[in-house]
Amino acid sequence: MRPELSAKERMQIKRVVMPAQDAAERSRNFKEVNLGLTLEQAQREAQRCLDCKHKPCVAGCPVQVSIPEFVTALAAGDLPKAAKYLKGDNALPAVCGRVCPQEEQCEAKCVHAAKGEPVAIGNLERFVADWALANVDKVEKPEVVAETGKKVAIIGCGPAGLTAAGELRKLGHGVTIFEALHDTGGVLRYGIPEFRLPKSIIDIEVEQLVEQGVEIECNVIIGKTLTLKQLKEQFDVVFIGNGAGLPMMLNIPGENLKGVYAANEYLTRVNLMGAGQSQNSATPIIQGKKVAVIGAGNTAMDCVRTARRLGAERAMIVYRRSEAEMPARLEEIQHAKEEGVELVLLTSPLGIKAEENGWCSALSCQKMALGEPDDSGRRRPVPLEGEVYDLAVDVVVNALGTQANPILTSAAPELELNRWGNIVADETGATNLPGVFAGGDIIRGGATVILAMGDGKRAAAAIDDYLAAN
Ligand code: FAD
Ligand code: SF4
Repeated sequence: MRPELSAKERMQIKRVVMPAQDAAERSRNFKEVNLGLTLEQAQREAQRCLDCKHKPCVAGCPVQVSIPEFVTALAAGDLPKAAKYLKGDNALPAVCGRVCPQEEQCEAKCVHAAKGEPVAIGNLERFVADWALANVDKVEKPEVVAETGKKVAIIGCGPAGLTAAGELRKLGHGVTIFEALHDTGGVLRYGIPEFRLPKSIIDIEVEQLVEQGVEIECNVIIGKTLTLKQLKEQFDVVFIGNGAGLPMMLNIPGENLKGVYAANEYLTRVNLMGAGQSQNSATPIIQGKKVAVIGAGNTAMDCVRTARRLGAERAMIVYRRSEAEMPARLEEIQHAKEEGVELVLLTSPLGIKAEENGWCSALSCQKMALGEPDDSGRRRPVPLEGEVYDLAVDVVVNALGTQANPILTSAAPELELNRWGNIVADETGATNLPGVFAGGDIIRGGATVILAMGDGKRAAAAIDDYLAAN
């Protein structure tokens, strides 16, 4: 039973703060920073929900999770029911509860947000999802439907591909995922560090899909090992969810010096290959003492916090605007600062300098000021004449962003692309090729986990219609 409290009483309950590891301690380990709520804390937070009839929070969620339903079930102590609602709408709730930018999505629309403290929907999602992972026998399994005999190939085992796979399998279609890397999860595994998203969570969520009959073939690069044309001959439909993993370059002198990494390479070495974390890792990483990370998005925050954990004495974000314009999640910025990360703001890199041996030694920096707003509405950074200086570094990480990887698409010239190399798809994910759908970062450019999952979910519904008609 949901405890009977008046709306006024619910409004008066203070938002429960997520417990976290001590900042000094966690800045030197890779264990998860956020420790999760206790049942008592989660229920107290859930009691803040007003169960609004117009459900504004649901409209703010890209996969329309039944938020008031799962939150009120949790408040009433009915965890199996809360988990059923959550799992029914979201294939990877333990992931989304940890990495979704809820403050810009569902929580931004919560009626409590007007007073500054929305219901902590993400923390509650994480709590229920973790409970469900630990209590598999208490959670209702998805209904097994009759096999349709149709076969779908999915390219890429990131959130878009995994979500499409789960939805299509629930509908009785045969599903095979082809993944270029030796492991599953896409950016969830190779990009987002263990201290934000433990790999064990991805393992369990993927294992559940495999138990439901999804087949996964790793070490297969579509466009090299097999072509899109070959997949189309062997399967009724192909869904492309190969992401946008190609780094954008800095285009400044010194980018090719020793000690300069692209963010994806830096994070992959540590997250996927274990570099710097174990004596037995076959993949090395340069554990700099003075590390400059260029950029201020989630990827940049992941790199700089990783550098700190690898022993950097100065782990620095170099960003040309001010803190207010940093695109990373507020929680990440806050956590990074607590961990001793320095923000070198209003600073634009001009070039990377080296000592005679070719190792980078300094970042040449231009001081900036904020001018008039640009097209994005953010104030444009303008250089301050003559204010150029050198910042001593031994590692530089370029975290400016990524774009579409051309390996698959260059081997399939019949596929329509936009001018940035992203696949062109309509709102259902249909491409210009019959029976070929696409979703996630490969159609959007670098976006978010939940948007990729929303694409996978929508495309699965459209693929089901397509299979019924063909
Ligand atoms: P991906 O996750 O990129 O998965 C694509 C998969 O396809 C990969 O496994 C890749 O190896 C595989 N592949 C590529 N080419 C081929 C091929 N030719 N053949 C076979 N397989 C192929 N979003 C958030 O919402 N919150 C966050 O906190 C957040 N943090 C991030 C941190 C980092 C470091 C990065 C890089 C991104 C972050 N994002 C975050 C963005 C988010 O991770 C992506 O938007 C999301 O993963 C996109 O999902 P996807 O399935 O489209 O692609
Ligand atoms: Fe609950 Fe906030 Fe959603 Fe209303 S908007 S149902 S209070 S989470």
